[in-house]
Amino acid sequence: SETLVEVENLKKYFPIVKGVFSKTVGYVKAVDDVSFTVRRGETLGLVGESGCGKSTLGRTILRLLDKTAGNVFFQGQDLYSYKKEQLRRLRPKMQIIFQDPFSSLNPRMTVENIIGEALIDHGIVPRNEVRDKVIEAIQDCGLAPYHSKRYPHEFSGGQRQRIGIARALILSPEFIVADEPVSALDVSIQSQIINMLGDLQQQRGFSYLFISHDLSVVKHISHRVGVMYVGSLVEMAAKEELYHHPAHPYTKALLSAVPIPDPAVRRQRILLQGDTPNPANPPPGCKFHTRCAYVTPRCKEEVPAYREIAKDHFVACHVI
Ligand code: SF4
Ligand code: MG
Repeated sequence: SETLVEVENLKKYFPIVKGVFSKTVGYVKAVDDVSFTVRRGETLGLVGESGCGKSTLGRTILRLLDKTAGNVFFQGQDLYSYKKEQLRRLRPKMQIIFQDPFSSLNPRMTVENIIGEALIDHGIVPRNEVRDKVIEAIQDCGLAPYHSKRYPHEFSGGQRQRIGIARALILSPEFIVADEPVSALDVSIQSQIINMLGDLQQQRGFSYLFISHDLSVVKHISHRVGVMYVGSLVEMAAKEELYHHPAHPYTKALLSAVPIPDPAVRRQRILLQGDTPNPANPPPGCKFHTRCAYVTPRCKEEVPAYREIAKDHFVACHVI
């Protein structure tokens, strides 16, 4: 199917500065040479431990952060070649849903104003139609019309996330980065929100980059899943392939921690030794080599190529 977003050798490094002259003494390699595509109408799940660079990747793809190197193409156009005004006009097409619905909603604004603001900013509908549009948007996200007059503190966490989703969807985006959209919510609410996100996608055909630290969260909604470790993609495959035939040792370890509903199936828990490396000073070669049970001398020197081992199944590992 058609490619909507193409990420090509993307890097995002944050300088580490020291001293009164703010001398750059190193870099945190938050996103370190990442390549993949997002197809039209799909959900690409992106998993990895907190701090592995998932959120930074999502923001750099949307140009909410500036890249260090590499390219991002949106609908075939080089996103980083856009001038500020062109980018502003494109912005409705590329939206983000944040992890924390509490901090991303202005407490002094009603829901109608919070959601309507974006419509007015982008001049999408005349002012006198904003109210109706907002009510339609919140209803699509499972809230009643009267909720539009209320303030964020009057809502539960799940309702606030529905408001955050309505705010993104009212702009008719093509691409949505959902950054841990259910991580701040009770488990009982999580599946409601995930189901709603899936239904909305079915109806409207947009794409998600769905970021989570939890493989069981992305499992239901994703068509494909990518796994990140210390700024790098280590594996990506169709969901069934990744969950049933993981190839990378890190993916296998992550999956071993996911409970299986079928009591007849037992999976050996793989406990990773040691800590996650500091992205300011990652190990040479394969960044996973300090914790990998299959490590070879080559792993400590040579960065493994990210390559296709089966159709649509990409892995960065020397021994596969
Ligand atoms: Fe393990 Fe080597 Fe593969 Fe890295 S490249 S995951 S250290 S076997
Ligand atoms: Mg994050």
